[in-house]
Parts: sequence; structure tokens; C-alpha cells
Amino acid sequence: MNNKMQILVVEDDAPVRSLITTTLKAHDYSYLTAPNGNQAILEASSHNPDVMLLDLGLPDMDGVEVIRKIRTWSNLPIIVISARSEDTDKIDALDAGADDYITKPFSVEELLARLRVTQRRLAASQNQQNCSSVFENGNLKIDYAAGCAYLSDEELHLTPIEYKLLCLLSRNVGKVLTHTFITQKIWGSSWDNDVASLRVFMASLRKKLESSPDSPQFIQTHIGVGYRMLRV
Ligand code: CA
Repeated sequence: MNNKMQILVVEDDAPVRSLITTTLKAHDYSYLTAPNGNQAILEASSHNPDVMLLDLGLPDMDGVEVIRKIRTWSNLPIIVISARSEDTDKIDALDAGADDYITKPFSVEELLARLRVTQRRLAASQNQQNCSSVFENGNLKIDYAAGCAYLSDEELHLTPIEYKLLCLLSRNVGKVLTHTFITQKIWGSSWDNDVASLRVFMASLRKKLESSPDSPQFIQTHIGVGYRMLRV
């Protein structure tokens, strides 16, 4: 019972909130709820939940503001719930430190799948703390200390930028990284040109990494948002 994940559900819309909590209950998660941003911050600080599901459109403050406040003291995984019309908010939320997003209307299966991704990421990051110099994901292995990457024990011949990209994605495995975040980390800037270059480097990295670049196994594209490395 102690292994139960506790989810903080932040949503002002009562029917949506009850759909989420009913789902969580049926799948053996425990949960807390908050109908607004201030309550969310209070619950997060006093109960230290495992994951926060956060609606972006809240009555008292912007969901992005909630993320910024929480990120000053906590790495709590945050999955943002946004409406289709709030695409730019979604990107702002990821840049402010959200881990993932789900778009309304979403299915129960989708919600559960996102929670499982987050759970795996948490487990993986705990493992990584134990042996942080080597990363393994399926047949991909990165030896950070040696600066080499291997696919099925064969060394990958990557350019410095491709290698940097691969490391950045692997260090954040399971998390959606925005174009802005990636280009800032790789080039220290995020002009339109950098985003265009990123696409080119990503395509060449995938050619070396993925057995079929058209249906990638490791790196997922989030159109208009960014990329995520999946745990395979
Ligand atoms: Ca709302």
C-alpha cells in the first residue's frame, strides 16, 4: 500500500475533476484535489504528492504561474491539462518546467498511459542517481564519462551536436523538451534559425539511431512543441 502513487488533481471544472478522480480510484492511485492555484500550491507543499495533474485554466491564477512557483522549491512531476485552443500556453507550461501535457478532451486510457510514463521516468531517474555515468535504454547505451554512444554494442558515429542532442534527450528521458529548451541548451539561443537547424540535426541523429526513422522508437516528435525520448 505504501507504494501507491499519490496524485494531486488541480482542476476547477467539477465534472472533469470527478472523472479524473474516479479513474484514479479505480486504478488504485490515491489522490488529493484542488480547485484553484492557491490551493494547489498549498496541497503540494503540505502533502508532497508524487505527481501533479494541472489544468492550465484556473479561476485565481494562470496554471503556468503555479508551475513557476512550485519549481522554485520542488521537482514534483507536473502533467499539464490544456484545451486545444491553449497551444501556446502548453509550450509556456513546458518551458516553465512542466514534464508532460495532455489535451482536452482526453480518454481515460490516455491519462493512465501518461501516468505510467511519469512513473517509469521517476523510477529511471532514481536508478540513474545510483550509476549516473552510463545510460541504458533498450539496445541504446551511452557512456557519458567516455563520451560514446552504442547501439547493440556497436559504437555510433555521431557529430558533436548529434551527441549533445542525444545526451540532452537521454538525461530527460520520458520528458517532452520544447524547441526553445533544446536550442537554448545546444546553441545558447533560440532563433527561428536554430529551430530549423535542430530539425536537420534531429533527422540525421535519427538516421543513425532509429532502425526505421519514419516510425521512430526512441525519439518522439511533438509537432509544434518539441521532442521526447521514450523508455523502450
Ligand atoms: Ca479550467
